[in-house]
Amino acid sequence: MSDRETGFDDALVEQARRLFVGPVSFLKSAPALNFLPDAEVPEVAFAGRSNVGKSSLLNALTNRNTLARTSNTPGRTQELNFFDVGEPMRLRLVDMPGYGFAKAPKDMVRKWRFLVNDYLRGRQALKRTLVLIDSRHGIKDVDREILKMLDDAAVSYRIVLTKADKVKASELAEVQARTAEEARKRPAAHPELLTTSSEKGMGIAELRAAVLEAIG
Ligand code: GDP
Repeated sequence: MSDRETGFDDALVEQARRLFVGPVSFLKSAPALNFLPDAEVPEVAFAGRSNVGKSSLLNALTNRNTLARTSNTPGRTQELNFFDVGEPMRLRLVDMPGYGFAKAPKDMVRKWRFLVNDYLRGRQALKRTLVLIDSRHGIKDVDREILKMLDDAAVSYRIVLTKADKVKASELAEVQARTAEEARKRPAAHPELLTTSSEKGMGIAELRAAVLEAIG
């Protein structure tokens, strides 16, 4: 994917590449709002249903293999995970708890909703959320809940298609068109998508640029 297509200039892409080869470290997990770190730097959050490829994408983004854990099981605590990026620190990545577990207990869904909603509504430092959507499925109702929460909280967001290597080119073009059309109708959504594959390294340079652009 050329930079011309995604609209990022070469200088931004290079600056973003350099940022993410530098230090990235886990700061803390926040199971509730009173555990949030001080909002001293801009934050960019990542959201998506469980198994969408969020951990893999965060690892690809930051050139690490094990930064984000790739075993989001329903039994795990619902937490916001914070990662400091840059030295001196430029921004924080926020790994939001996955959603859409097939057998999630009601109580867990309720907790997820409160935590995410409170964070989205109250966090001045949150500059943008990247919402991950599986290229094989496109936007589902379970995703529309968080899109609505973002629209209602007026948090700017951008949709990132994941696992693009898993679908044929024709199917990818179709899901890109369908998803972009829906994004254009949503008030807080960036009209342009990013398309990625952690497996193939596709769209990762652009994703880094999108993170940097978000705090710009
Ligand atoms: P999470 O639950 O959203 O954190 O998802 P994970 O990152 O753990 O990924 C879920 C599954 O999808 C794992 O088996 C990954 O190996 C696989 N996966 C993640 N990203 C990709 C990708 O870009 N391409 C392919 N083919 N598989 C992927």
